[in-house]
Amino acid sequence: MKAAHGRVVALHYTLTDDLGVQLDSSRGHEPFVYLHKFGSIIPGLENALEGREAGFSSSIPVSPADGYGEYNPQAVFEAPRGQFPPDENIQVGMRVQGEGAQGMLNFTVVGVNDQVVVLDANHPMAGKNLHFAVDVLEVRDATAQELAHGHVHARGHDH
Ligand SMILES: [Zn+2]
Repeated sequence: MKAAHGRVVALHYTLTDDLGVQLDSSRGHEPFVYLHKFGSIIPGLENALEGREAGFSSSIPVSPADGYGEYNPQAVFEAPRGQFPPDENIQVGMRVQGEGAQGMLNFTVVGVNDQVVVLDANHPMAGKNLHFAVDVLEVRDATAQELAHGHVHARGHDH
């Protein structure tokens, strides 16, 4: 069965950057499963998996535009230190949440002093060329309930 809109794909992947540094991997864990063409994974990976079947094994390069977006320097801004709990130990590299116009947003702390915290709203993988080494394990039709919900019902997710 080929990966297509409304089918569930199970795969293992290892994600590395241009230097070969591993950023993420499903290997050694449960396979990664997703509902194809429902916007749940980055377009560059999803497009490369279109029409693929169990047994497909490949290294897939993904540019920032087809991944987590270009790095936007204007998404770095200062917030008053007083917006954070005084006893919270804010450190560079931390991920923090804040409320934005569209709900909760995640930021990376890129600077901090007594007065301000410098926050970066870019995705941590924005601006990076990504390399996915994938092994497709299974492609199946989604159930009617999965299609209605727009996500996969796998182990640990049932309702
Ligand atoms: Zn559901």
